[in-house]
Parts: sequence; C-alpha cells; structure tokens
Amino acid sequence: MSIPTTMRAAKVGVDKHYYDLVTLPVPQPKGYECLLKIGAAGFCHTDTMVLEGVFGGNKVIGSHEPSGTVVALGEDAERDERVKLGQRVAGMLKRDVCFECSDCKLVDWIYCQKGLNSGLDIDGFFSEYAIVDSRFCATLPDNMSFEQAAPLTCAGLTIYKAIKVAVEKKGILPGKGILAISGLGALGHLGTQMAKAMGYTTIGIDARPGPISLANEMKHKPDLTIDASKVNVEKAKEMINDLRPKGYFGWEGVDAIIMCADAVASQRYAINLLVPHGLMVIVAQPPTYTFEFRDFIFKDISVIASMHGNEIQLQECVDLCAKEGIRTETTTFTLDQHKEMCDAIHQDGWKGKAVMVFE
Ligand SMILES: [Zn+2]
Ligand SMILES: [Zn+2]
Repeated sequence: MSIPTTMRAAKVGVDKHYYDLVTLPVPQPKGYECLLKIGAAGFCHTDTMVLEGVFGGNKVIGSHEPSGTVVALGEDAERDERVKLGQRVAGMLKRDVCFECSDCKLVDWIYCQKGLNSGLDIDGFFSEYAIVDSRFCATLPDNMSFEQAAPLTCAGLTIYKAIKVAVEKKGILPGKGILAISGLGALGHLGTQMAKAMGYTTIGIDARPGPISLANEMKHKPDLTIDASKVNVEKAKEMINDLRPKGYFGWEGVDAIIMCADAVASQRYAINLLVPHGLMVIVAQPPTYTFEFRDFIFKDISVIASMHGNEIQLQECVDLCAKEGIRTETTTFTLDQHKEMCDAIHQDGWKGKAVMVFE
C-alpha cells in the first residue's frame, strides 16, 4: 500500500468554533504505534471544548475517536503482531502511556498521567492518516462499518464501562434490579441499547422529545422512557414499579442511574429517583454536581465516577454492538464539510452523533 507524503487535516484554529483545513506531512509510526488510513472519526462534545480552548488551547488536529485500516507499523508493533497491515481497527485516544506509574501498575493505563490524549494534547483523527497505539486497538468484525466503529471508541466505550460498573457495584442481574440512564444523547442512546442487549431492565430518561424517540426507535429499546419535563418523580416511580417482578419487596425507584446528562435539573431528579442505598454513576462533565448531606447520610446513596474503558473493554463493546445490531445514530460529513459539522450539532432537533468519513 503506497502512503503519500502529505495529508489533509482539520486542525483547531484561531476561531473558537471551527477548524482550519491544513496540509501536513503524514506521520511515521515508531515503537508500538501504527499508522491508520482513517476510515471515520467521531466528533465528540469534548471536541467542542477543545475548540473553545477549555483544555489549554492546543492547536491540534481534532477528534479522539478513530477507526481505519492499518497501513504502517512501528518496529515494536510489527514484532508484537497485535495488529497487522491491512487490518480494520478501532483505536484509542491515549498514546505514550508509561506502564510504570502507580495508575498504570495498580489500576489501569487509562488513568496514566504521563499518557497524551489525541485530539486534546496531540494531533487527533480528523485527518487522512493518523497514529494510534497498536496495543489499544480493537479489531472490527466484517459487518461493522468504520462509521459505526468510530463512535464506539469514546462514547460507546464510556457508556459500556459505566454499565459494567453500575451493574457490578450494585449487583444488578438480568431480571433483578433496575438500571436507568439519564440523558439519551450520543452516550445514552447507545447505553440503553447495550443494557437491554445485555438483559438488564433499563429505563431511559431525558427532558427532550427527540432523544426519547431516538432511544425508542432502536432494535433494543429501553423497557420504559421517562420525559422528565412532563413526569414528576412520584409518577415516574409508579411507572418503574410496574416493571418489578411480582412479589417484589423493596423500595420504589431505580437501583442505579448513570448520568449522561449535563442539565442541573437532571441531577436532583436522578437522586430523588434512586432507591435508598442506590448508586449514581457519573459520566457527564457539567461544571458542578450538587448533593446534600441528606442524600448520603440518611438516604445512603453512593456516587462514583467512571471514565472510558481500556482496550479489553473496547473489544467487548465492539463485539457486543456487532453481534446485537446496536447502532449509533450518525450523521456523516466529509473533511471539506468540517464547518457544516461544527454547526450541525448546535441546531435544534440535533440527535445522535456527527462522524467525519474518509474515502
Ligand atoms: Zn469523546
Ligand atoms: Zn503510567
């Protein structure tokens, strides 16, 4: 496969809302890196924060959600044989992870403070070619397109991991216990499909009609969707109670709730909807979360946060989505349509995920 010397890319510009189209040298992989011919790259909410300069204003190529074909390997990657030339893969944003710090050794490399994040600290994937770490790649089943794979590397993986954390920590089993997802945007609509496909009783909550109907249009739709702008917590608890098995003895509400919503009002709604001793898993990144001591001391709720997963969970997530027909609602744009892409996600009625696709 002949690789050109230069490539086109969308780089964070001076303007706080748009990218600049630039031509750059094609990077060369070293060590465990591999070079991808990008097939698709997702546009995440975090990318808009990078454009606005929230992460220090690095002028990097946007996107941290890559999928593509392996076209060159660094010397360690070649020896390692985790990925091969010509293979279709989904990659991850982290590079230059140390594998020696406390985070790497005691918890998970995803927390490595020395690792660099593509699309935030270093160049990302809105480019014809890009570097990823071959050790963090998932191989794509034949029936999964690049366009469907790219959103799984961040949005999909993050919600997949959060579901695993919620069900494991709260002891939710298929048919036993109720899991809710608050916010049915890119993460949430993937999450309700995954949770249902895994067999859990699943509630989707949003206050906007678009995302609610999106979740209900999917093959794996939630057992119940709640429009928080119309249904108060007491009524919502009654609706949820109807999903409990006959003879259920316990509290009213949901056993665990995953927060994918930014809205402040969604936080209190979620806390009130939780059963006593319930679990909230934080995924969304609003500036603050507001809790009261009563929530913890008397109601005894637990709050934990969850970040995107590692390469093992990425492969599980990709395989689950391919096997179960779990789909991301996508709208695609080409590199030349980068401005339209940036505008589209702010328009009324926007739903799902914007993905940049390459030839
Ligand atoms: Zn992201
Ligand atoms: Zn480390």
